[in-house]
Amino acid sequence: MKVHEYQAKELLARFGIEVPKGRVTTSPDEAAKIAEEIGKPVVVKAQVHSGGRGKGGGIKLAANPAEAREAAAAIIGMNLVTHQTGPEGKLVKSVLVEEQIEIEKELYVSVVIDNSIGLPIVMASAEGGVEIEEVAAKNPDAIKRTPVDPTVGFQPFQGRQMAMDIGLSGDLMRPAATLIGGLYNAFEGLDCSLAEINPLALTKDGRILAADAKLNFDDNALYRHKDVAELRDLDEEDPLEVRAQESGIGTYIKLDGNIGCVVNGAGLAMATMDAIKISGGDPANFLDIGTVNDPERVIASFRILMDDKDVEAVLINIFGGMARVDVIAQGIIDAHKQMKIEVPVVARLVGTNVEEGERLLAESGVELIRAHDLGEAAQKAVDAAAARK
Ligand code: GDP
Ligand code: MN
Repeated sequence: MKVHEYQAKELLARFGIEVPKGRVTTSPDEAAKIAEEIGKPVVVKAQVHSGGRGKGGGIKLAANPAEAREAAAAIIGMNLVTHQTGPEGKLVKSVLVEEQIEIEKELYVSVVIDNSIGLPIVMASAEGGVEIEEVAAKNPDAIKRTPVDPTVGFQPFQGRQMAMDIGLSGDLMRPAATLIGGLYNAFEGLDCSLAEINPLALTKDGRILAADAKLNFDDNALYRHKDVAELRDLDEEDPLEVRAQESGIGTYIKLDGNIGCVVNGAGLAMATMDAIKISGGDPANFLDIGTVNDPERVIASFRILMDDKDVEAVLINIFGGMARVDVIAQGIIDAHKQMKIEVPVVARLVGTNVEEGERLLAESGVELIRAHDLGEAAQKAVDAAAARK
């Protein structure tokens, strides 16, 4: 889950990180009022869960309340297109109006999990403001990395070292070290998957603050953070993913390809996606129905796949252990009764109660392309999708 910039800043402020003074609003008049309260030039920023807003026209400077009203009126309701929104853009519903800071230098700091070492890693760079991927591609040495042992946490000396590594020495070293430590504490304390400040602004009057902030959360830990979970903005999420969660489907993630997948078990789902790739195709989704013996789950999965206009073939890959193949088969049959399935469906079913499942399918007359192993199933799904073109 992600949150908006203003929410990320509010959360980071709890960890002692200085953020510009400001407030969010959906109304241009209110934007003028906030600028009035702040009493100095402001910046008006589109609140969408996508970066690159600056270049896309979603961030405007305003010298006074009248300009703030004008900027907010221009941004609220706009369809903001950035490299992260995709060409269809994103409707802007609210803006953050905050004090304009006089930026001397833009730096970068973030915390993520480094999967290769299985540890959180703090990254900092003197080259902030731009996309970090760009810095990583052009000048990887400009990004300093410090792995953190989570049993002891991020140590103050590590913060001081990182501050110096990105050119914040002298009077700036201690506040910078404290800020980096605060970001790590926020990452750990809120169970984030990413905590990023970009730009980390060094102001002309020597302050260091978060000019932009981004927090992504580990969904599996959200139950520990009810206040964070409440910040969820469904407008920002894929409608099919939201529906999948409401239907109780274990995990559904929309992807770019055209082969819809219905699989039980996360590991099998990953293997299925690999098999599709090896067969020259692309999965339209990751879908783990979870281990429940309920035909409704299969029906719900089909409903979602049938509403995904990208799906040109469905691949059902079930390895019945705790899950019973006859129950899955009943779900497939019911799904075909309840909705119009206009794409080819390939099924590979093995395991518990497979004989009963096969009997039900044979009796039902439901049209399926059958496969006996995963490789064959993937190839048939890819071929069936290609044959429709
Ligand atoms: P993003 O483009 O969506 O990542 O949005 P950011 O919040 O990072 O803003 C993009 C750029 O706008 C920053 O890198 C700054 O150059 C500029 N910017 C944002 N806020 C301020 C501000 O208060 N003062 C000044 N001078 N520039 C700002
Ligand atoms: Mn930014």
